[in-house]
Amino acid sequence: MSIRVQKTFEALFALEEIRGLFRSSLPTGFNAGDDAAFHEKITELKSIIADLEAGTGTPKVTKIAGNIDIRTREEESLNIQPIQAAGRLTTEARKAIIAYGDGYSTCDACRKPFRLDKISKPGIADFHEDLAKWLNMDYARVVPGARRGFQAVTSTLVKKNDPVIVSALAHYTEFLSIENAGGIVKEVPLNEKNLVTAESTAQKIEDVKEETKKMPVLIMIDHFDYQFANEHEIAEIGKVAKQYDIPFLYNGAYTVGVQPVDGKRIGADFVVGSGHKSMASVAPSGVLAMTEEWAPKALRTTAMVGDITKRKFGIKEVEMLGCTLMGGTLLSMMASFPAVKERTKHWDEEVKKSNFFIERLLAITGSKVLSEYPRKHTLTKVDTTGSFDTVAKTHKRKGFYFSDELSKSGIVGEFAGATRTWKLNTFGLSWDQINYLANTFTDIAEKYGLPVSK
Ligand SMILES: *Cc1c(COP(=O)(O)O)cnc(C)c1O
Repeated sequence: MSIRVQKTFEALFALEEIRGLFRSSLPTGFNAGDDAAFHEKITELKSIIADLEAGTGTPKVTKIAGNIDIRTREEESLNIQPIQAAGRLTTEARKAIIAYGDGYSTCDACRKPFRLDKISKPGIADFHEDLAKWLNMDYARVVPGARRGFQAVTSTLVKKNDPVIVSALAHYTEFLSIENAGGIVKEVPLNEKNLVTAESTAQKIEDVKEETKKMPVLIMIDHFDYQFANEHEIAEIGKVAKQYDIPFLYNGAYTVGVQPVDGKRIGADFVVGSGHKSMASVAPSGVLAMTEEWAPKALRTTAMVGDITKRKFGIKEVEMLGCTLMGGTLLSMMASFPAVKERTKHWDEEVKKSNFFIERLLAITGSKVLSEYPRKHTLTKVDTTGSFDTVAKTHKRKGFYFSDELSKSGIVGEFAGATRTWKLNTFGLSWDQINYLANTFTDIAEKYGLPVSK
């Protein structure tokens, strides 16, 4: 590990230990023992800071709680891992988890009627309104991951054996949320370009009607799927949903937080996003937004009465189980939100960088792109069977030679050992980093004698 990164963590930890002294002392201040411990820690911190500044010293702390390694992947490498790229925290989000890491930290100023989305200090109520407005929907709730957003909707709309339309590229969590509600998955087939079209969605609805004698109760489609990150005919599918009068859930796990999303324009009844995948937030976090029409159903409040105590729980929402993200997860989302809103306005530039890299990869003879091309997203599935895999065939490290080479250059996140078909995500890389990434791939190709066109 770079000694400066090491010393940064040691300094942060030393500060946390100082913070611990405040927590364990009386509100009136330190006693003599605390005071001695405080000055001892400050001395230690100063020496860590001196090492940090000079880039000197040796690692003193390598574990948290005795057995947890320090994670420095984002400090020390360029991470192209498909699902991690847009979930990296902003600096503001990291500050928020320092300050709000304690359990129910959102609840300091929770007042009647006691619901998370009504809390105004910190500005959680405003955040909910901003989220809804930003997605051009009427209501928004924070949820522990996109999957819990799907679940709230399926649990509201799907009854036993009800058919639900999904894409043939649907994420496993969509399957599970339908299964959990007792429904049955019905997949829209892909066309020859691996796209879900409005036409095939309409055809599938007809087929399901014919086969099951039931209308599908929900259509759940990913704007960009997780396998190819191809863009599907989402707004047109929204129109089909309207024509058949079937509620439509827009799965924005790979869009909300990286590109502009306008729920009403798409014709979505529900918009679901993932905080930890695309909104620079701590896991598990996400958003479920909906139109006015669905709020009374999906956000219904409890009607249950205790048979002995006659207790009722007022405005707690059943699908949310009352409150959802009650601590650092939510505050990380809120702290990243201004930066997240801003970055969606520069999505074009992210796509440009993605295409720049892919073009350079394609210049390495034998490389292919399995996703639609030119790219409309930063996540891409590539096929290097005809390039990097040809080296793996005779290399003693097999496919691992490739990850070895990448990690030597500080590039991580490709599936270790995979040299045939694999995915990468360039989201958030600067032009300098993109150039570095492209040059590294070219250098590896040249080192192993793979032809690179200029
Ligand atoms: C990642 C992903 C999900 C799951 O998101 P979570 O926030 O982890 O629940 C759902 N759908 C798609 C298309 C995804 O890519």
